[in-house]
Amino acid sequence: MLIFTIFSIRKFLIMKYKVIVNKVLLNRINPSVRGLTIYPFIFLKHHYLKADQTLINHEKIHLKQQLELLILPFYIIYILNYLFNLIIYKSHFSAYYHIVFEREAYANEMNHNYLQTRPWFAFIRYINKKPV
Ligand SMILES: [Zn+2]
Repeated sequence: MLIFTIFSIRKFLIMKYKVIVNKVLLNRINPSVRGLTIYPFIFLKHHYLKADQTLINHEKIHLKQQLELLILPFYIIYILNYLFNLIIYKSHFSAYYHIVFEREAYANEMNHNYLQTRPWFAFIRYINKKPV
């Protein structure tokens, strides 16, 4: 039973995802958005962005965050965090960059080994950190 549980958790943590290029969708959300992650999909605005390892790593950090929060709670916390930040900072960009999930993703997007060593729920460490 224990072995089965460990195997299941390990299998759960292997992030399988699919990259979809959809310029129309991302423009509808916000013309400045280049990538968006809705587990298990990474949406990119342009085909050439598939080669942008920093952007892909950023989105993969969001995949991991979504998985460990069992997906739906991630979006609820994300939106509530954004709205809370909007009240405090009164600016879309400040509110966005202060979202705890974005703080972790931007702080580590250039470290391409980050996901191999990242502890569970690492975004919690970014609650009181300033955005990068
Ligand atoms: Zn992000």
